[in-house]
Amino acid sequence: MTTLDTQRSTQEYQAIDASHHIHAFIDQKALNAEKPRVITKGYGAYVEDSDGNRYLDGMSGLWCTNIGYGRKDLVAAAAKQMEDLSYYNMFFHTTHPAVIELSNRLFDFLPKRYSHVVYTNSGSEANELLIRTVRRYWDVVGKPSKKILIGRWNGYHGSTVGSASLGGFKFMHEMGDLPIANIAHIGEPYWYAHGGAATPEAFGLTSAQELEATILALGAENVGAFVAEPFQGAGGMIFPPASYWPEIQRICRKYNVLLCADEVIGGFGRTGEWFSHQHFGFEPDTLTIAKGLTSGYVPMGGLVLSRHMADTLVENGGVFAHGLTYSGHPVAAAVALANINALDQEGIVERVKNDTGPYLQKLLHETFSMHPLIGEIQGQGFVAAIQFAQNKATRTLFENETEVTWRCRTLGFEEGVIVRSTAGRIIMAPTLVMTRDQIDELVEKTHRAVNRTAQELGLL
Ligand code: PMP
Repeated sequence: MTTLDTQRSTQEYQAIDASHHIHAFIDQKALNAEKPRVITKGYGAYVEDSDGNRYLDGMSGLWCTNIGYGRKDLVAAAAKQMEDLSYYNMFFHTTHPAVIELSNRLFDFLPKRYSHVVYTNSGSEANELLIRTVRRYWDVVGKPSKKILIGRWNGYHGSTVGSASLGGFKFMHEMGDLPIANIAHIGEPYWYAHGGAATPEAFGLTSAQELEATILALGAENVGAFVAEPFQGAGGMIFPPASYWPEIQRICRKYNVLLCADEVIGGFGRTGEWFSHQHFGFEPDTLTIAKGLTSGYVPMGGLVLSRHMADTLVENGGVFAHGLTYSGHPVAAAVALANINALDQEGIVERVKNDTGPYLQKLLHETFSMHPLIGEIQGQGFVAAIQFAQNKATRTLFENETEVTWRCRTLGFEEGVIVRSTAGRIIMAPTLVMTRDQIDELVEKTHRAVNRTAQELGLL
């Protein structure tokens, strides 16, 4: 007999949930009326709800179950670690084998310029820590005025006070009087929506040069870091034009501004590279990681530091005044280790790079490039977006685009596939173990949902 009663009816689950639980990013009153789906099982690339419906999960949960659901080896790693040492901490001169082995292995997959990691429980906490670490770094090197961090409008870095400030969602800033002081934002490199008559290449440069203008306006002596996702995730899986990242890197180097990549979605094989900045070919000073680190089996995040930053902080920084009860939690570390070992040893990341990733991207292009509703397809490996357009020839977006894509996502559920809607795009980030047959199923079911949306709009 467990205390987790899995025998309740859907209605019972929903009633209890409505009575006692506030969900993420939702109008709770509306949800209580509409009622959430109760997800009860996950295996491989599929999840099931409490009514026995099965869905192909095209989003890996929240783009985190990179290795798929229900892996017995990860379960065994957690169980063994709970038996051996269920908890210990890194405070007061102690450590433990799980965190040591994970830290050692992690750097097998990271470019050589990184040397140290600080663990957290989530991506938000890791970005919170990033703000403190950047400011500390500049204090230690004797440039204490470099306190401003620049993020981007429509970027997402988490839900805590600092990370939501770094992010650029205005509706989030409205809750809790954000952003905090010394955070600035520049525009996003979203060519389809904002590029006007410029070519993507020209627009990529102009977008990047907004960083230079902002640094100059604020004074380079006051700017500590630029923080961005290599491709925007929650903002709509937006891939910047190829000209963008080299120019951003040039500007950061020129003005002695740290370049901080949020790899929470892009990390651990999502694009077919271990980290997505490798796909774009730039060299960040820090990497924020979470999600795919444990494939979502247990919470864990972290901030990876370049050797130069870590050496500076370790040699000259004195006390690093940061620590969470669960930093480097042994069970999370053991699961993360089993996860990255499997991603590597089973050739999963390599397969996304050379086989299944290109297959997914090709199929999406074949299916949607001539579709009357779809203006652009972007992606790499196992991350993709299809952009909705009211008029493809003029790149005119729907005025009610959020409703249009939300409707498409709902129809996706009816078709048995989970994709996500952002303002004007349907996005997908499947588990990296998805097979070619399952990719066919993903694209076919998404296609049906898009066609039904187009029919409702009178466009098909
Ligand atoms: N950064 C990015 C790029 C993210 O997508 C997310 C979560 N979606 C976060 C940070 C925050 O991570 P968490 O939800 O684990 O706090």
